[in-house]
Amino acid sequence: MLNLNDIIGQDEAVGRLRTNFSAGRVPHAFLFAGPEGVGRRTTAAALAAELLCESPRTDLTGQTSACGTCESCRMLRADAHPDFQLVYKELARFHDDAAVRGRVMQDLGIDVIRSFLIAPAGRSSTRGRGKVFVVLESDLLSIAAQNALLKTLEEPPAGVTIILICRRPEQLLPTTRSRCSLVRFGPLPRDFVTGKLAEEGVASGEAEFWASLTDGSLGRALKLARAGLYEIKREVVDGLSRLPAGGDAKFAETLAKHTDALAEAEVKLVKKEEDANLSKALAVRRASGAMLEILAAVYRDALSCATGAEQAVVHADQMQAVQAIAGRFEPVELAEILEQLSRYERLLWRNVNPKIVWDNVVITCASATTLNV
Ligand SMILES: [Zn+2]
Repeated sequence: MLNLNDIIGQDEAVGRLRTNFSAGRVPHAFLFAGPEGVGRRTTAAALAAELLCESPRTDLTGQTSACGTCESCRMLRADAHPDFQLVYKELARFHDDAAVRGRVMQDLGIDVIRSFLIAPAGRSSTRGRGKVFVVLESDLLSIAAQNALLKTLEEPPAGVTIILICRRPEQLLPTTRSRCSLVRFGPLPRDFVTGKLAEEGVASGEAEFWASLTDGSLGRALKLARAGLYEIKREVVDGLSRLPAGGDAKFAETLAKHTDALAEAEVKLVKKEEDANLSKALAVRRASGAMLEILAAVYRDALSCATGAEQAVVHADQMQAVQAIAGRFEPVELAEILEQLSRYERLLWRNVNPKIVWDNVVITCASATTLNV
């Protein structure tokens, strides 16, 4: 179990939390904002451990930390602490009301927030050290859920701490934001991410690539590396550099096939690790998003080459392919391709058939043609 002292690469965020602690005025509600996979959830768990620990230690500098051995620390480690609750939209499946259980959860709705946060927050702490609620993906909180939560955020019952984890705090209602202490998490240092990937046995060229593509998100880098996506990305980038100007239907099929396989793998992984349901459709959109991100990086890289900024290249491990693409298009065409790729990503979220999207992606990448799908 990690302590706040062990969190690496987030000195500002941890420093902010520490200042609160040392001043003895720990806020009751936090908003941990930042990109995915940079340690927001790990830090929330470390903070929870400190708050709930039954015999916290104080070091020479006056910093406290969870002991790691008391009953509370032990239960937290076993994911079985009665006063610690992770709140996420899939909890709807465990709701008392069958109608809620049967609903497809697009957002983090009022039913989940009432049953798994507001109601239990009002009950007394089992171990007597207060309660901690960590809300994952708070960006998805519905307006109704946020309004229902306002009073609890404003004046939580004694000993209750609520941590909202989100990507973009500006997506939340100003009333929600203003009731929380904002703690910003930035990208992790590249070297740190590369080092961690190396510890996992990822080869150095591949590690550099993921650290660079995910822009310092260790969580995402690990996930993509573990998904075995690297070989696929090599094949895709090579394919792009050889794409005939008229497009290639086979290549579009390859892209669709790989994203589908990735989505399958993610559905299985989520089932095993988080005991949650991930719909295939959502997994396909996520996998497609990752694939489009890899593709877009190729054209951004080509643009960097065209403007003499080679050091910014993400696909540095396939420089030849990147240069071939840079030599084929004018910078304005590369910019056009990038623009189109981001449009395709938005289309995927609007339930457009992935096959149509991939067909168009390939035509765009082959010819820099503007399409109106
Ligand atoms: Zn402890």
